[in-house]
Amino acid sequence: MRREVDLSQTTKLAAGECPYCQNRLSGHTGPAKPEPGDMSVCGLCGGYLKFDDGMRLRALTPADHVELTNNPEVAKMLGVLRDMVTKHRKVH
Ligand SMILES: [Zn+2]
Repeated sequence: MRREVDLSQTTKLAAGECPYCQNRLSGHTGPAKPEPGDMSVCGLCGGYLKFDDGMRLRALTPADHVELTNNPEVAKMLGVLRDMVTKHRKVH
């Protein structure tokens, strides 16, 4: 798993729909170039997401949560992203 994290990068996705809030997501904020298996956070509801082999977004499975437990750096990054989403929503 890649370790570098650049929260300033936003990558446009061909298509993406949040499995939690059903909002269509036009971009991805987080690791500069998401790859299948990478995790992200919905920019609208803060839900944890994972890219499947077709680069579609899906909800995390129990196995993914175990993976997060074993990768504290990734878990921390997702927590930071979720905080950003939460603070942004409070503005509105
Ligand atoms: Zn969402």
